[in-house]
Amino acid sequence: MPDFRITNCHIHTNTAQHAPVGFPFPAARVLRNSPGLILFIAGVLRLLGQQNLADQVDRLYQFQQTGAQPTQDLIFREVKKHYPGNTRFVILPMDMRGAGYGVVPVGLRAQHDELAALRMADDHLGQVLPFATLDPEVPGSVEECLRAITELGFAGLKIYPRIGFPPDHPRLMNEVYPVVAERNLPVMTHCSRGGVQGRSVDDYTADGYTRPYAYLPVLRAFPELRICLAHFGGQRDWAAYVNATETQGHENWMQQIRQMIGSGEFPNLWTDISYTLFHFEDYAPILRLLLKGNDLESRRLRRRILFGSDFYMTRQEELSERAICIRLRDTLGEALFWQIAETNPEVWLGEAEESDKTLWTLSG
Ligand SMILES: [Zn+2]
Repeated sequence: MPDFRITNCHIHTNTAQHAPVGFPFPAARVLRNSPGLILFIAGVLRLLGQQNLADQVDRLYQFQQTGAQPTQDLIFREVKKHYPGNTRFVILPMDMRGAGYGVVPVGLRAQHDELAALRMADDHLGQVLPFATLDPEVPGSVEECLRAITELGFAGLKIYPRIGFPPDHPRLMNEVYPVVAERNLPVMTHCSRGGVQGRSVDDYTADGYTRPYAYLPVLRAFPELRICLAHFGGQRDWAAYVNATETQGHENWMQQIRQMIGSGEFPNLWTDISYTLFHFEDYAPILRLLLKGNDLESRRLRRRILFGSDFYMTRQEELSERAICIRLRDTLGEALFWQIAETNPEVWLGEAEESDKTLWTLSG
């Protein structure tokens, strides 16, 4: 396999130090300080015969333990073990200072600086692709993000609108996207109904900031900007699709993304399969079906899907990174797997040219 190189386009190494002390609920602080309590709860559940619940609590413990690592380096070493030695990782930081859950012990600047150091560490050379992040509502955050891009030379931008801002926030439109586009860098954004949500942001507003159509003003103002809507709409919308049920707002984000990419109207719109595909048995056959077709829509989609995992959020799931990778390769087959794990990431990152540009000039 030495001729091939996986790029995992979506992982996290931020620690509990980068999250508010009261996140996601005030008692979290207690759990964080006494991890033994979680194991005790799991043990009690097991005694009560609640095997599945106990397993879930165990995985919550794994997740909590990973986040409790003192450095991003230690978390990064955990994920690297699952992949071939030449694998590269897009690392996505988070600015949770504006989420409304209290003080964040280690600020954004230190988080960015630590990623910059990680990229230069002997053990990780060539494997770290750090992205810069921001919350336009937090004073100084935009400036710090621009510093990471222009001074530290970060590889792209990550945004997380559910925390409490629209993707066409004026500071993004006027100060950030122009710099990102000018430098030919990609954008990653969280696009599912789950995940972190600002405390004062209700579900309706959060969905309004997150839905694929919320990016229409951005796509129209910056048609050359390569934007990846992560999680392919998210597990809730994939479940709704499989079960033919309705989601909130009567729109299915998985189908919205498919339609937007498939139409050819937005040649620089991307999506990734991170987290969502960890429910492998349910969703992998659908992914294969979506990518295999010979119609124009499928051929476009095939070139706009990125492999990503969402480590270490996925520590809450049953399957490991390596298990998912192997299953995915088996289900998709070699050609499709390397398309999404190697070829597509290089185009999205701005390292390689699109090999078939005509796909985007043909009409369906
Ligand atoms: Zn993520």
